[in-house]
Amino acid sequence: MKKIIIGEKIEKSYGEGNKWRNVLDGLSVQIMEGDFVSVMGPSGCGKSTLMFVLSGMDSVDGGNVIFDGRDITTLTEKELSDLRRKEMGFVFQQPTLMKNLNIFDNIILPPFRDNKKNAVKIKEKAKFLMKKMGIEELEKRDITQVSGGQLQRAGICRALMNNPKIIFADEPTGSLNSKSAQEIMNIFYQINAEGTTVMLVTHDPKIAAQTERIMFMSDGKIISEIHLSKYSARNLEDRFKKVTMKMREVGI
Ligand code: ADP
Ligand code: MG
Repeated sequence: MKKIIIGEKIEKSYGEGNKWRNVLDGLSVQIMEGDFVSVMGPSGCGKSTLMFVLSGMDSVDGGNVIFDGRDITTLTEKELSDLRRKEMGFVFQQPTLMKNLNIFDNIILPPFRDNKKNAVKIKEKAKFLMKKMGIEELEKRDITQVSGGQLQRAGICRALMNNPKIIFADEPTGSLNSKSAQEIMNIFYQINAEGTTVMLVTHDPKIAAQTERIMFMSDGKIISEIHLSKYSARNLEDRFKKVTMKMREVGI
């Protein structure tokens, strides 16, 4: 299978004066096209930073990141933002939607800014995605007039508007109740089943257990990894056991 991301000996540190900390410590990682992968680890171990450097949102201090054959550590800010806009989708714990726009306008905003000529197609696509995510009736709502789960679905619609090769999701269920969290995970499952690579950061073993490949991070390194079979609700308990056993084994 093709590698969509290769991270080689990534170094990233934060700090000032004589107080520097290696947040990513010579970390190497490969993400395959079609992967449904999660990154687990305690708060502060570098999960978000890893996602930021793999997507070119943040620079590395050492090492390389190859995205779909291109070394993105050599790209300019403009090239990076083009690449992110065209080929990547992002989902965060709190969707960053604009307060003065309704749900529909928020979803179409990024592609519409890029290409006003295709307004009809863009709107059709947004409607298609909203229907698929079960929020088609919320088009005109203000972003303060929907639930957290609905808002996250709108965020996912927006992330899918450009048909990204990969979706990066940082704690996407972190502020949701367990029912909404499960609905969001079902959506990621479906997105992945339709061919999009999904990389998800979580500290929740029940969420990680629904992905197919789980990387365990500690102190800026990937210290272990497990592969699970295709997810089905029937094998969730067994997967959860495997994940929590591994967490104990590696001490996170
Ligand atoms: P995680 O997502 O696993 O909780 P992060 O990647 O957010 O961890 O952060 C890893 C470490 O790097 C933390 O100690 C955090 O405080 C530090 N860090 C992250 N971003 C910055 C930043 N922009 N400036 C300084 N320190 C940062
Ligand atoms: Mg984080």
